Amino acid sequence: MDEKKRVLVIEDEADLREGLKHNLEIDGFDVDLAGDGRSGLDCAGRKPHDLVLLDLMLPDMDGLDVLRQLRERGDHAAVIILSARGQDHDKVAGLEYGADDYITKPFGLAELTARIRAVLRRTSGKPEAKGRRRELYDFGDLKVDFRRFTVHNGEVESQLSRYEADILRMLIDRIGEVVTRRDLLTEVWGYVHLPTTRTVDNHIARLRKKVEIDVEHPKHVITVHGLGYRFDGDAVA
Ligand code: CA
Repeated sequence: MDEKKRVLVIEDEADLREGLKHNLEIDGFDVDLAGDGRSGLDCAGRKPHDLVLLDLMLPDMDGLDVLRQLRERGDHAAVIILSARGQDHDKVAGLEYGADDYITKPFGLAELTARIRAVLRRTSGKPEAKGRRRELYDFGDLKVDFRRFTVHNGEVESQLSRYEADILRMLIDRIGEVVTRRDLLTEVWGYVHLPTTRTVDNHIARLRKKVEIDVEHPKHVITVHGLGYRFDGDAVA
């Protein structure tokens, strides 16, 4: 938490954008600004950011498309969505696409700063922030690319959400061992939004659909009854 964190604000309301910059700089962040999706993506491509504050309603494109393109490029910046009140389906979609948190407008700056710090605490412990980690895995039938957040199960390639990728990463890191739901909750979700174990199971079910050819007879993401999950596989390379 010592070096300055760099935040990119993608927000088309100029007053809000400038206000965020002003306040985040006072809080010790380096801040870049973009007023639409295209320039936001350009800015994200020019230098790495620790965190992106992403408005969903942008003049040129949907914020969710910005998020999708960031993740497809392998950009691991933490993302907090700034959403309008009542757009709950967008929040859910955003988290599915790999956002780390969302905050509903209008919000207080104290709350926003607290959310930013919580997300950065969580994500700075994540593998990608700890230096080079293995990004490509080949288990024969199953190929995993953590740079692009994709899996190929021998038939189709699928895009992983951030949560699915984090779960898969944790399972593969401990290949052959049981990973408990509690481990997954603590590591993947952190303490901010501690969901129920049911959430873990739902994400595992979605992950399994992407990883397995036959979800009824999984070969890789194995349920260990009463305990949690285990990843099975032999790395080819
Ligand atoms: Ca907007």
